[in-house]
Amino acid sequence: MPVKVDMDKIVSLCKRRGFIFPSSEIYGGLASCWDYGPVGVELKRNVKETWWKAIVQDRDDVVGLDTSIMMHPGVWAASGHIDNFTDPLVECKSCHLRWRADAVEGKKCPQCGGELTEPRMFNLMFKTLMGPVEEEASIVYLRPETAQGIFVNFENVVTTSRKKLPLGIAQIGKSFRNEITPGNFIFRTREFEHMEVEYFVKPGTDEKWLDYWIKERFEWYVKLGIRKENLRLRQHGKDELAHYAKDCYDVEYLFPMGWSELEGIANRGDFDLTQHAKYSGKELSYRDAEAGEKYVPYVIEPSAGVDRSVLAFLVDAYDEEEVEGEKRTVLHLHHSLAPIKVAVLPLSRNEKLTPLAKEVFKQLCPNFMTDYDDSQSIGRRYRRQDEIGTPFCVTIDFESLEDKQVTIRERDSLAQIRVPIGELKKVIEAKLKGEAFDASSLWATRRM
Ligand SMILES: [Zn+2]
Repeated sequence: MPVKVDMDKIVSLCKRRGFIFPSSEIYGGLASCWDYGPVGVELKRNVKETWWKAIVQDRDDVVGLDTSIMMHPGVWAASGHIDNFTDPLVECKSCHLRWRADAVEGKKCPQCGGELTEPRMFNLMFKTLMGPVEEEASIVYLRPETAQGIFVNFENVVTTSRKKLPLGIAQIGKSFRNEITPGNFIFRTREFEHMEVEYFVKPGTDEKWLDYWIKERFEWYVKLGIRKENLRLRQHGKDELAHYAKDCYDVEYLFPMGWSELEGIANRGDFDLTQHAKYSGKELSYRDAEAGEKYVPYVIEPSAGVDRSVLAFLVDAYDEEEVEGEKRTVLHLHHSLAPIKVAVLPLSRNEKLTPLAKEVFKQLCPNFMTDYDDSQSIGRRYRRQDEIGTPFCVTIDFESLEDKQVTIRERDSLAQIRVPIGELKKVIEAKLKGEAFDASSLWATRRM
């Protein structure tokens, strides 16, 4: 059984190994803003690329889009965000801390016990001014979701992609929400990344497609290694449905702070296209020439957070084991998510070993994200690679100079195989795709 991990351990590993740093750290940080380090950016890119491949590349009914963060203010009036994208906020009259009204029990400030104001509705959209002269500039909002960029381009995409419904439009990008209480590391931040699909369907088929996407998205996390017992589906109660939603399910993950939303899959009905047609004066409907029908499509929306997915993958992969009397921390990340696929480690920094090790690195790095490390003892370097989840370490030793073979060590089993340098790329490729590590009869298995 893997260990249950608390958030402090994850935060500390992320800092220590270069996954995630506090933003503006040399200035004391900025609340709930985080920066992805050299290893973290690779993990995050892999999460997004894996999603994009499953959603866009591997299907013929979804196309991609990349829209601007700032949009015409009319968009947010039509979408309901100006009126409805609010949380009830109370403020302490003594210490002036602000709280979400539904997160405070009673009428006293949880910080100082002071009196709280009556709740008022607080809009979560970030506002800024566009234009060089402040008095004449117009207010624009940073988008709180990527979805609206998709809705306003529905007509453009249908026309140019020559696709029929059902048709999905996918987008990955930054969103901004001025949360009253962000927290839990990268789980809830004011700036975050969304991975969203708007899947346009014929009215009446929407419930079927909602079921389809719930299964599809749940399975995506399982395929990428998240244990099923740490995932669950939860249907929203009528009272918690967003203003646009007919029905909504959350895929929840058992984070260190408890069950929390990883992704929402909502049936938005025809709310968005109808609203944008009304506010823009442009007709937004779909004409099915073959069936001789015209209708406003319904929309199924799987909407996932990149950052909280990263957190879930980290938490689920984390383990502490005892190996030959020593503790080792390891991330059992799925191969496609691992930031570094292979590390090249000469047994020691030695003038005879270095040229061959560099040659091996040069052979591998155009094909896989490869790390080269020759400082400190081999044991400490293995430990570092285990902690960042590197599936394979390639070791070059003095025997390699004679027989032109190197040793590959596998992260999870710690098994080792000896492989000719000329075959290395092919072998690692096969192992990354899931071939059993010591299945090849060509090379003898041995421990170093
Ligand atoms: Zn107070």
